[in-house]
Amino acid sequence: MKPASIAAQALGWLDEETRGIAPPIHTATTYIRDPDNQYRSGRIYSRDQNPTYDQAEAVLTALEGGHGSLLFASGMAAATAVFQAFAPGDHVIAPKVMYWSLRNWLMNFATHWGLVVEFIDMSSPDALRSAIQPGKTKLVWIETPANPLWTITDLAVSCEIAHAAGAVVAVDSTIGTPVLTQPLALGADIVMHSATKYLNGHSDVIAGSLTARVDSPLWVRIRSIRAQLGGVMGPFEAWLLTRGMRTLFPRVRAACVSAQAIAEHFSHHALVEEVLYPGLPGFVGHDIAKKQMQGGFGGMMSIRVRAPKGGAISGEAAAIAVAANTQLWKRATSLGGVESLIEHRASIEGVGTPAPGDLLRMSVGVEDTGDLIDDLEAALLRAQG
Ligand SMILES: *Cc1c(COP(=O)(O)O)cnc(C)c1O
Repeated sequence: MKPASIAAQALGWLDEETRGIAPPIHTATTYIRDPDNQYRSGRIYSRDQNPTYDQAEAVLTALEGGHGSLLFASGMAAATAVFQAFAPGDHVIAPKVMYWSLRNWLMNFATHWGLVVEFIDMSSPDALRSAIQPGKTKLVWIETPANPLWTITDLAVSCEIAHAAGAVVAVDSTIGTPVLTQPLALGADIVMHSATKYLNGHSDVIAGSLTARVDSPLWVRIRSIRAQLGGVMGPFEAWLLTRGMRTLFPRVRAACVSAQAIAEHFSHHALVEEVLYPGLPGFVGHDIAKKQMQGGFGGMMSIRVRAPKGGAISGEAAAIAVAANTQLWKRATSLGGVESLIEHRASIEGVGTPAPGDLLRMSVGVEDTGDLIDDLEAALLRAQG
């Protein structure tokens, strides 16, 4: 079966009890013990043993080509579980351009925990080679394409460098999605998703996931971190996630086609300074993206708004005015839903952001491409004053 078929039928599981083709939602928090004191059902307590997780985790494992998956209460709960599996004194390397809230946690909490965190330009294999310390570096964290500049990191090359030094590689593949990128096949050890985004796809569930390439002491440790820290999903959210993943392929494919057209349309526009999109031939990292992303370059892009002639307002003020003037593009954070979103990124990321002030981050949904282009055209014009 092709991945698109796996997702569409969520592996084709039936509810054996009723023969229903949609799974039930299991709300029980605890399970009956056998009279002889055994737990033959394999379930004791629902903190990390809720049966509603099983199908979503199995679908993710199949789509990523891994050994197993774990759902978490959020992408942040999933990502931080990976870092917490390491010990004080361990050296970990993360990208300078990455999801801002995780960067923030790494700077302000992981360091208190005793992790030695080093931020590098992850798009440069040479930077990774010179930062990695054989025996001391335990984890390399990669995000590709990376928020909010869509910086591309070569997964195969980075995994080779990391593994040669004895480090594990974890990849935040939220933007790539299992539709476009297979990090495990390229050598990564763990894939993380903010399932809040494309996997669920409807802006109505906060969720995260990890998938491991193989079973390992690290994976066992991550599994017990989830069980003990309890950053778990509710059964209803897990059920919604399974439902959302059934349309993952058509949603992501539509977003890719639309994003490519929108990026091309605005890349030579008088009111736009620059379009950042991995699908544009002139984009740094385009060739690597082409090599490791199949079927499209994702639904995420950014534009940098040009300051109006005459210098009355800055590029940043113009960008904020553009976001204020869109109708169809909704002015909100987050991404990966069926509705298109636009956001002035520097103001949400704050200090340390790599986003220039004139940058608008755009999550392309599944609306009509022409409507999205017209709406942005009109907003760019209105922002001129
Ligand atoms: C949203 C996001 C996260 C965090 O996920 P939550 O589900 O919001 O906790 C991590 N990485 C990327 C790339 C994201 O877009």
